[in-house]
Amino acid sequence: MDLQALLDDLARESAPFAAQGRVADYIPALAAVDPSRFGIALATMDGQVLGSGVWRAPFSVQSVSKAFALALVLARDGEALWRRVGREPSGNPFNSLVQLEYEKGIPRNPFINAGALVLVDRLLSLTGDSVGALRAFLREESGNAAVDVDAEVATSEAAHGHRNAALAHFMASCGNLENPVEAVLDHYFRQCSLAMSCGDLARAGLFLANHGLRADGSRLLTRSEAKRINAVMLTCGTYDAAGDFAYRVGLPGKSGVGGGILAVLPERGVLCVWSPALDAHGNSVAGVEALDRFTTRTGWSVF
Ligand code: GLN
Repeated sequence: MDLQALLDDLARESAPFAAQGRVADYIPALAAVDPSRFGIALATMDGQVLGSGVWRAPFSVQSVSKAFALALVLARDGEALWRRVGREPSGNPFNSLVQLEYEKGIPRNPFINAGALVLVDRLLSLTGDSVGALRAFLREESGNAAVDVDAEVATSEAAHGHRNAALAHFMASCGNLENPVEAVLDHYFRQCSLAMSCGDLARAGLFLANHGLRADGSRLLTRSEAKRINAVMLTCGTYDAAGDFAYRVGLPGKSGVGGGILAVLPERGVLCVWSPALDAHGNSVAGVEALDRFTTRTGWSVF
């Protein structure tokens, strides 16, 4: 199969679907992004990276970072993590507050904002610098030492972070945060503001397609832990559209409101697509379209 030609076709065919979506506008720094940008990259198990469109351009990874945060916490805490956060789809928007009260401050899963705040809290306790640990990991796995936080986006996140602050304070009131709310929020906002390209993210995610083995051959996760992260990505990675994403794409995926989606092709590689215009659930419209077309053409879904 000519994968380069396929990616070029997908870029050409899928990019126009951005017209059906809207760029995230909850912070000015994201609202200013050009909706016509489109990139797609495929990293294969042998370390090769192919791409089409603006696949080398950094964008705001936002919640795509949560898949990597989960990996770092699960690698250290193992099953004990699940005492702090659940692993069921929420069926609610990613920033929803309602379930948290019924569930006594235990978020439904690690990918909704409340759950991601718990991951940050744990990583902060474990490393003393949650975003620093994540950035170091992403630099190593992507092979790009320039991966960093976009300070303008981070400032914007903090200035408009009332919902996240509400989630964090509620969890603190239930005893489900170990660190001061302010520190957890600061690391969370900077984590969301990491800037990476499709190529960087696809390469960085390869351990998820490779049963937990890192780029240097060392083991980050056991085979079952890698399987579990992929399972949670499939069921919760695209929030209240996870059912539709599994139906259309058939791969574990993690989206972010910057318009990126990381999708894992077990034992084959990792695909990352970026198009900033989002659907009502906060997932990239053209991104889902491209992934749908990719698995339809190749037959490389997990089903
Ligand atoms: N920074 C965003 C927030 O906290 C991340 C959400 C997302 O990418 N889905 O709401």
